[in-house]
Amino acid sequence: MTHYPHLLAPLDLGFTTLKNRVLMGSMHTGLEETKDWNRVAEFYAERARGGVALIVTGGMAPSKEGGVFPGAAGLFNDQDIANHKVITDRVHDAGGKIAMQILHAGRYAYGPECVSASAIKSPISPFPPKELDEEGIEKQIQDFVTATVRAREAGYDGVEIMGSEGYFLNQFLVTHVNKRTDRWGGSYENRMRLPVEVVRRCREAVGEDFIIIYRLSMIDLIPNGSTHEEVVMLAKAVEEAGATIINTGIGWHEARIPTIATSVPRRAFAWVTKKLMGKVGIPVITSNRINMPDVAEDVLAEGCADMVSMARPFLADADFVNKAAEGKAALIAPCIGCNQACLDHTFGGKLTSCLVNPRACHETDLQVEPAEKARKIAVVGAGPAGLSTALTASQRGHEVTLIDRADKLGGQLNVAKQIPGKEEFWGLVDWYEAMVEASDIEVKLSTSATADDLAGYDEVIIATGIVPRDPGIPGSDRPEVLSYLDVLRDKKPVGKRVAVIGAGGIGFDVSEFLVHEGESLTENLPEWMKEWGVGDPEETRGGLAPEGPQPHAAAREVTLMQRKAKALGKGLGKTTGWIHRAALKMKNVQMMGGVNYEKIDDAGLHISFGETRENPQVIEVDNVVICAGQLPERSLADALEAKGVSCHVIGGADVAAELDAKRAINQGTRLAASL
Ligand code: FAD
Ligand code: NAP
Ligand code: SF4
Repeated sequence: MTHYPHLLAPLDLGFTTLKNRVLMGSMHTGLEETKDWNRVAEFYAERARGGVALIVTGGMAPSKEGGVFPGAAGLFNDQDIANHKVITDRVHDAGGKIAMQILHAGRYAYGPECVSASAIKSPISPFPPKELDEEGIEKQIQDFVTATVRAREAGYDGVEIMGSEGYFLNQFLVTHVNKRTDRWGGSYENRMRLPVEVVRRCREAVGEDFIIIYRLSMIDLIPNGSTHEEVVMLAKAVEEAGATIINTGIGWHEARIPTIATSVPRRAFAWVTKKLMGKVGIPVITSNRINMPDVAEDVLAEGCADMVSMARPFLADADFVNKAAEGKAALIAPCIGCNQACLDHTFGGKLTSCLVNPRACHETDLQVEPAEKARKIAVVGAGPAGLSTALTASQRGHEVTLIDRADKLGGQLNVAKQIPGKEEFWGLVDWYEAMVEASDIEVKLSTSATADDLAGYDEVIIATGIVPRDPGIPGSDRPEVLSYLDVLRDKKPVGKRVAVIGAGGIGFDVSEFLVHEGESLTENLPEWMKEWGVGDPEETRGGLAPEGPQPHAAAREVTLMQRKAKALGKGLGKTTGWIHRAALKMKNVQMMGGVNYEKIDDAGLHISFGETRENPQVIEVDNVVICAGQLPERSLADALEAKGVSCHVIGGADVAAELDAKRAINQGTRLAASL
């Protein structure tokens, strides 16, 4: 008897059957642009072997002007078709099915050739689009049709027509981008003519036995977005035009409401998809922040959708579905929604990967193979660097001993998980515990390793992490001055008025911790929606609450400071930094740059500004919390070196500057793969 009867049930589409209810959603990985088709094929084939029913590729441009950026991949000629055949053959050999996403970016295309319904620039692009004339619109439709026909020639089982997230087809639907007065603008019937026509013509061109998924924006989260009534009209018309499945899109890229970040509650938008259930006759897929099989099962069991789409979870673990089916859900590496190695890489022009799984998109170059000779390996430090080394080395057949002076595994992840909005870190630590439990690793907790303890091993790995930096501010030995560890780990009491020194990732996180009280909003969907101003698209256009965001009162008055004169939070994640900044602004956190910390005394924190130390002032506070960066904890590595014992130093113990779990895990995994 399976634990996930809804998730693992097949779905009969008439001409073909999907083996379960799991779709791997589209992700731009950058792999296609490497032009290493074996590598692209292995990425998808590994996921197909892992049991997912249907994969959707990253978006392929139907035309040069519709590409997300100049040179974006697409099926433009016979060679492209042959290249993609490598992918589809490999996925089919692995027992999977794969559809190609056709993504026309419209005014989101990063180039001067971009086109849209009207010549209105998007707030997130520097390029104003050209307004299409009748002939131009016909060309775009024909491009979708050509791409669909070529996808079929390349062996794809179907296509997904991208109609959400504010891309081209979505742009025609709403009046704030579509100002046309011809048959493509004006009434909603006219505005939806283009997406419906695209689906109709694509279906006509490929016949009945080819999957056409239409990704439909069910809650735009922008001013003057679609209403639920319009969503239903479009869904019905798209079904009538020949779509096989409707997938859910949530929010335009320009929306100022987070939709997939880790602080968004799990399954936060399944209720939106549920509104469409029963109103169309074809299967409906839901998506966003569904990352574990029990969440997916509940969503399906509650009738929110016929299928679930998960994208990033398949970067974290290619074997997601097989592990769920085998009753090994605890061993599924969780996607923690951090975006650090996926979307942040994409937007930084780097190849996608995954913080918890550095093999994602590196299937062909990062192999974990049985070691030629098993060795005795000691790993000191069970933070992410040490854990990833120990697990990978053990998988390769080495005899591993993992030592930590703390009484639990996880290192600083146990501190990170205290932050409201970072609840997914609990799951990450649980996963490490389950993986270590299922391995042959010998674990020694509450054990402080010394250089003498490490004699007799073939390899010694030092992953001892960091020590917080003491900025040496006069008065920092006073009792009201706390470190972030005092606050987050040791739960020392903190007063109502707080100055936070240092505005890196930890300074922002500590501020978030201090302004919240009680249950985290990430654990309470109605309250989270109120905080960010999410409404019901049945009652309000685009699903924006008419009263706007209604932030809960801040628990403390917090002043967050840095010495650099630039705006605070510039170093945070590309796709998540704005959320941290907005969240703290909603709580009236005062942000100050260009600060000199003069001293701390009975009056409070004395500061001045700039090189000339102008505008001196005292911030009256109950506590000062120091978050001034970290230094490597190298005492053990130095002691070993002094004894002439060679060791590998990784993670924070190696370089503390700009350290994060992504680097720690990547370094540990790669080291262990090479031992
Ligand atoms: P650590 O995690 O510090 O682990 C080192 C381990 O070594 C510890 O368990 C320690 O007890 C042990 N140890 C030290 N000396 C000895 C000894 N002599 N004997 C035995 N054991 C020893 N990173 C992200 O990527 N994303 C985030 O969102 C994020 N948020 C964070 C939020 C907070 C509040 C904090 C504090 C950190 C956050 N980080 C985040 C940073 C991330 O947790 C660290 O970069 C990462 O944990 C470093 O890994 P590490 O294995 O090198 O060291
Ligand atoms: P950090 O990002 O390097 O920030 C350190 C802060 O302290 C900066 O604001 C810095 O700004 C200030 N500072 C440095 N030296 C100082 C000194 N001598 N006196 C006073 N202030 C000083 O480090 P962190 O915040 O400690 O975070 C540690 C690591 O954890 C980071 O590298 C980060 O990647 C990771 N992390 C990531 C996330 C995430 O969401 N991805 C969240 C938390 C932590 P000024 O020099 O301008 O004062
Ligand atoms: Fe998920 Fe983070 Fe991995 Fe992206 S990098 S897939 S968000 S765990």
